[in-house]
Amino acid sequence: MSATDADNSIMAAIAAASLDALITIDDAGCILEFGPAAEQLFGYTRAEVMGRSVSEIVIPPHLRQAHESGMEKFNRTGEGPVLNNRVEVPAIRRDGSEFPAELTVVPLTVAGKQLFTAFVRDISERKRHEAELEAARAVAERASEAKSRFLAHMSHELRSPLNAVLGAINLMMDSPLAPEQQMFAQTARSSGQALLELINEVLDYSRIESGELTLRAEPVELSAIVNGLVSSAALGAAEKGLEVAQYIGPRVPHLVRGDPGRLRQVLANLVDNAIKYTQSGGVTVSVEVLDEPADRVRLSFAVADTGIGIADEDQQRLFGEFSQVDESDSTAATGVGLGLAIVQRLVAAMGGRIELDSASGRGSCFRIELELDVIRGRHATEPLPARPAVVISGSAVLREAAARQLQSIGLTVTGAASIGELSAARLAEAVLIFADIGTDPEAIDALRRGLTAAEVDPARVHLLLAVGAVPDMAGFGAPLFKPLQPAALLAVACGTLRAQDAPPAAPAAAALQQRRGRVLLVEDGPTNQLIAGAMLERAGFEVDIANNGHEAVEAAAAEDYAVILMDLRMPIMDGLEATRRIRQLPGAAAVVPIIALTANALSDDRSRCMAAGMSDFATKPIDREELVRKIEKQLGPSPAVADS
Ligand code: ADP
Repeated sequence: MSATDADNSIMAAIAAASLDALITIDDAGCILEFGPAAEQLFGYTRAEVMGRSVSEIVIPPHLRQAHESGMEKFNRTGEGPVLNNRVEVPAIRRDGSEFPAELTVVPLTVAGKQLFTAFVRDISERKRHEAELEAARAVAERASEAKSRFLAHMSHELRSPLNAVLGAINLMMDSPLAPEQQMFAQTARSSGQALLELINEVLDYSRIESGELTLRAEPVELSAIVNGLVSSAALGAAEKGLEVAQYIGPRVPHLVRGDPGRLRQVLANLVDNAIKYTQSGGVTVSVEVLDEPADRVRLSFAVADTGIGIADEDQQRLFGEFSQVDESDSTAATGVGLGLAIVQRLVAAMGGRIELDSASGRGSCFRIELELDVIRGRHATEPLPARPAVVISGSAVLREAAARQLQSIGLTVTGAASIGELSAARLAEAVLIFADIGTDPEAIDALRRGLTAAEVDPARVHLLLAVGAVPDMAGFGAPLFKPLQPAALLAVACGTLRAQDAPPAAPAAAALQQRRGRVLLVEDGPTNQLIAGAMLERAGFEVDIANNGHEAVEAAAAEDYAVILMDLRMPIMDGLEATRRIRQLPGAAAVVPIIALTANALSDDRSRCMAAGMSDFATKPIDREELVRKIEKQLGPSPAVADS
């Protein structure tokens, strides 16, 4: 047998055994081979079709034109879309019936001639199956949505009568009741409230599931949300002897775009759980920046507790609906295990993700990652020179959160549970001391004695107090109130550092100040206030500070300043608006030189500043030489002119 004969026999054997219909044609589309599977599929015998045009035999009339041009294109270019690819096309049987086919065409050259072999498979069965599955899925989805909609509407409807029941119980409890009746009413009220919470959860869950949830896109003030949460959680936490602390990272923007209500709901849920499943220690809520893609910010919100923790094997199912770690646990009696399922779905709807880091007995940390549009960012803050500070608190949760917050502005912090743990040297070197020691006069006396022994000026010591508690604070720096707010902590810290940094009012310095005059620094960031303030004071100016544009206008109306340094982006009133208003004030304010301070040195900003009535422009981070030069230029004999 020759090689060609052998090839032909192998080909014939393959064609005979193939489950696919094999059809071989030449470059004019004439059939050269028509395998047994093809005979069966198309209903022709091999003898009937040999030498005939393939398009007449298997291709439906409306596709014949496309087939002809495909062949023609291949003969011209050697390329074609169906060659060596798997494509789905309609095909036609002898009886005229059409069916969906899967087709692969392989070009081959035999004895210098261009041939094509098509492998054709009837996929009607598969297509029918797919269509049935798709239809079944759509029906199931519609049924599930209908059920969720029913649940959503039912729970909505259940709330109205329940609210009336609760209202009536409240009214009843305001009227005179016998002690026993009072107790019954109390029970009815707390059960009613638990029922209401449950219904609200079911309502939320079913709304999300039925696709009825719409998220808002509104300005969200992140620190206000966290402050609000921490303040309201602190009450319940205090009853259990727990501390609630917060940490806001240095680059976290003031305003982002999102759904404030839903963000609050998600975090509140995590904070409530954290308090519920923690017996000692406390809960820390922190917000940090992970990344800052153009005009957006990727934030991490973490709720960490020192509670019972969650074992590895339970962690995955927690986010499923109606799941609780220990279903017999009586502490969980107030929930149904829907909270985390709702949290996870809300976070997903916001485009974020949630993860849990926990181990049995070692506390839990739920971390949410969200990317949001920035409406108003935070300026780059000047790094402070590293200086030592001390935080004294019996609560590790509070100590760590406060230490992190102070470290974020460059301080080096030592934490201690009590003043007794600190050496005199450590106390003496501290530029700032925060003491969370309660209001017991004995504890405060002990603190005073420790400070005196270490020769520490009490003005650099700030007490952390519970709201409403005011002990004798003579000599101490401004107190801070719990729950501790990051902005308040930093403002107090920077204020005290500024007072320490100011040069002593020696007669020579006073003369210098008189020569140089009084400057108004308008700036909302406490660290920038501290740095720019110290630079100006060292350069011989007397410095007043305004925290925003509104305060600046008031200060400019009350005092004649030599120069005003005006930040642009501030809360309440921005620098441009403040400048326009100062220019309208009667008297010297209308002509006082105003120098813009901004991180954005774009010429666009520059012309907006000039249009608002500013005199010059200095960039941040502040360069002392540049700033002083610009101020001196304004103070010089020539009238205030814009620096071009
Ligand atoms: P529930 O209504 O029961 O609180 P959740 O979905 O909020 O429902 O929580 C589900 C379960 O996850 C809780 O029952 C509890 O077992 C566990 N869990 C949630 N948060 C914590 C946490 N911070 N520490 C320990 N366990 C937690």
